[in-house]
Amino acid sequence: MGASTLLTGCGDANTLRAEFPLLAAAPELHYLDSAATSQIHRSALDAVLHHETTSRANVARGTYRLAEAADLAFENARRTTARFLNATSADEIVFTSGATASLNLVAHAFGNTLQAGDRVLISVAEHHSNFVPWQMLRDRIGIELALIPVRADGQLDLARLPELMGSRCRLLALTHCSNVTGARTDVAAVVAAARQAGARVLLDGAQAVQHGPQDVRALGVDFYAFSGHKCFGPGGIGVLWGRHELLAAMPPFLGGGGMIGGVTPALSTWAPPPQRFEAGTPPIAQAIGLAAALEWMLGLPWPQIHAREDSLCRQLIEGLRAISDLRLLGPDAAVSRAPIISFEMPGLHPHDICQVLDTHGLALRGGHHCAQPLLAALGVESCSRASIALYNDAADIEALLSALDAARRELT
Ligand code: PLP
Repeated sequence: MGASTLLTGCGDANTLRAEFPLLAAAPELHYLDSAATSQIHRSALDAVLHHETTSRANVARGTYRLAEAADLAFENARRTTARFLNATSADEIVFTSGATASLNLVAHAFGNTLQAGDRVLISVAEHHSNFVPWQMLRDRIGIELALIPVRADGQLDLARLPELMGSRCRLLALTHCSNVTGARTDVAAVVAAARQAGARVLLDGAQAVQHGPQDVRALGVDFYAFSGHKCFGPGGIGVLWGRHELLAAMPPFLGGGGMIGGVTPALSTWAPPPQRFEAGTPPIAQAIGLAAALEWMLGLPWPQIHAREDSLCRQLIEGLRAISDLRLLGPDAAVSRAPIISFEMPGLHPHDICQVLDTHGLALRGGHHCAQPLLAALGVESCSRASIALYNDAADIEALLSALDAARRELT
C-alpha cells in the first residue's frame, strides 16, 4: 500500500497504468470501456489474495481466530467504504452484489414503505437498473412513476421539477452521471426541491465513483448506490449507503441467515442495519478487495487526474467533431461532465464499428448501453461509446480517432 501510494503520488497516466496488471501486460491495448467495467487495481487483487490465503472464513458466525480475522477485515472494509463516501458511520454501508442489487434493494425495502398513489420521480436518462425496479414497484403496489425529460444534449431538464414532483412525491431516484452522455445531474437543485417537498433522494453513483471519492453528506442525498467493478475493485460487490434512520425504518429485502434478530416458527424479527440487508453469506473477499481499491483512490491526486480526464475528453470531442457525418451525443466539452463520450455514425452499426476498432487494439462499447429510453429520447437506436479513466492518455484518444477513419473506409 505504501509503495503504491508513493508511485501514484504524481498521478500521471503511465505510472497509474503500470499499477493495473491487465493493462501492464497488454501495452498495445487502448482500453476505453471503463464505464462498463474499469480494470482492477493491483491493491485490490493483492487484498483478495491475502484474505483468501490468510483469513478465509465466514463472517459474523465463528468464534475461532480465523473467523475473527475475517470479521475484522470485513468490518474494516465497511469502515473504509464509509470514509470513501464520507458517511457518518460504517453502519450506513450495506454490501450488496452491485449497483443493480443496491437499487433493487431500495425499490423493494423503501418501496414497501410507500403507498398506492405515492410518486417516485426518475429520469429518462436512467440506466435500466434504475428504471426497471421502479416500474416493477409501480406494477406491484400502484405507485405513480414520473419521468424527468432530457434536453437535446442529454442533460436533465429540471425546469419542470416542481410540476413533475406533484404533491405526493416521496423519492427522486436519479443517476449521478449518465452512462451514455456523461451528463452530470445538478444534485444541489434536486436536493433543494426534494427537501422542500419532504421527498428523499437516491443517487445512482455507478458512473461517478471511478472519478473520485464522493461526499454523501455534502451532496445532501439520502441513498447512494455503486458497484465495485466500476471503481477499480473486484466484480460481485456493490454498495448501498443510506442515512441510518432511513435504513432503520425500512423492512428487509431478502430473508435468510445473518439478517434476523430472532426466528421462531411463528415469526422473525430483524437485525439492525446494515446486517438487516445482508441476508446470507456476503461477498467477503470482494468487499475486502473493494476497500483496498477505495483506500488507494483516497490517496490519489484528484485535481490532477480530473484535469487530465477533462483534457482527454476535450481532445476526443474536438477530434470527433472533425469527422464528417458523425453525431456526438451529450453535453459540450465546456460543460462539467464525466469523460463518457457517445457518438453515432449514420449508416454504420456500432457493433461493426467496435469490431473494427478491436482489430486496432481499441476496446469500446456499442449498443443501447442499457439506456433505451434515453437513446429513444435522443433519437438514436444505438451508439458507440468511449469512456475515459485515470489510466488513459492522449495516445488512446489518437488511436481511436485514426481507427475511426479506418473503420469508415472498411465499412462503407
Ligand atoms: N447505473 C449506471 C449508471 C450504470 O452505468 C450501471 C452499469 O453500467 C449500473 C447502474 C448497473 O451496474 P451493475 O451492472 O454493476 O450493477
